[in-house]
Amino acid sequence: MSAFMGLTFRQLQLRMKEEGLNPVHAPVVFRSLHRKAARMTNHGDRVDEWLARHPGVAPEVVRDIASGDQVTRKFLLRLEDGREVETVLMGYEGRYTACVSSQVGCAMGCVFCATGKMGFLRHLTAGEMVAQVHFLNEHLAANEKSPLRNVVMMGMGEPLHNFGPVMAALDVITDARGVGIAPTRVSISTVGHIPGIQKLAALKRKYSLAVSLHGASDEERGALIPVNKRWPIRQLLEACRSYSEVTGQKVLISWTLIAGANDSDDHATRLAELLRGMKVQVNLIPLNPTEDFEGRPPSDERTLEFQRILRESGGLPVTIRQRRGIDVGAGCGQLAG
Ligand code: SAH
Ligand code: SF4
Repeated sequence: MSAFMGLTFRQLQLRMKEEGLNPVHAPVVFRSLHRKAARMTNHGDRVDEWLARHPGVAPEVVRDIASGDQVTRKFLLRLEDGREVETVLMGYEGRYTACVSSQVGCAMGCVFCATGKMGFLRHLTAGEMVAQVHFLNEHLAANEKSPLRNVVMMGMGEPLHNFGPVMAALDVITDARGVGIAPTRVSISTVGHIPGIQKLAALKRKYSLAVSLHGASDEERGALIPVNKRWPIRQLLEACRSYSEVTGQKVLISWTLIAGANDSDDHATRLAELLRGMKVQVNLIPLNPTEDFEGRPPSDERTLEFQRILRESGGLPVTIRQRRGIDVGAGCGQLAG
């Protein structure tokens, strides 16, 4: 995949200048790199010649599996060095969402997550993340479907552990001169990487932030998420509060429900207590099965009861994430190549 795909508009201008091309052509080059329709047209000899020297290489599809739920499709893509990552397409006509991977594997080691079990292999480059978005848009176009509307950084990896390249990739795909995804339609999910949350707040982008909490005490959370030792709950929630303050945005709190581990009335009450007064929304994710983890999701009744308690005792907005793509291992935490 071409490294040029990952250059922000500003970086592209500089690069063109370095390579002796007048940066006034940067808008046309950026469009050509990021909008397929613009790629064919004639931009003048020097620009066309430059573009020809920097072709975008489409990733190779190793596997393409459509889920029986009719709204999820998982692609296993091979990178230039032979490593593989998964990208998931979800949703219906007019509101397609890309679930993009940011790393091959993950260093955080959450016990219920198949990506975590792989360990960390490497970071993806900005170009490799942009290429996932292009790939899905081209797949949609080839099937006469509308382009992507949303991008969620919830695939393989911890996006805030690969901060610079992830931000560059998001700058590229939200640039109206190129792919033009609305920044408000981008979500970043983090394990709770506090320095990353602070850096993200300072950038003041309009992306939504989702924080994976899953436990209401350091002991309970630490048993599921080993990095809780480094970034414990109290400091994490403090970082979320300042993120809301600085950006004016609500933080989404993700809670993967595991039967018998964090799904009781008492857990719901303690979670409501922890989040009191915060500008948050809670998203409940019934656990998806993975090979190495024994846990089970709670029943639908238990999930609804957990939601009811959070709403009533915490006055919190609470949604339940629809389970998608579970049959093909494309659900949250199931991506492992
Ligand atoms: N690394 C980031 C984003 C990728 S994981 C993060 O951890 O937030 C996306 C979400 O799926 C996270 O909330 C994660 O906790 C959750 N998840 C991981 N494994 C899961 C599983 N087996 N079932 C349900 N959710 C899971
Ligand atoms: Fe990494 Fe997120 Fe999986 Fe944890 S849940 S191991 S942070 S991808």
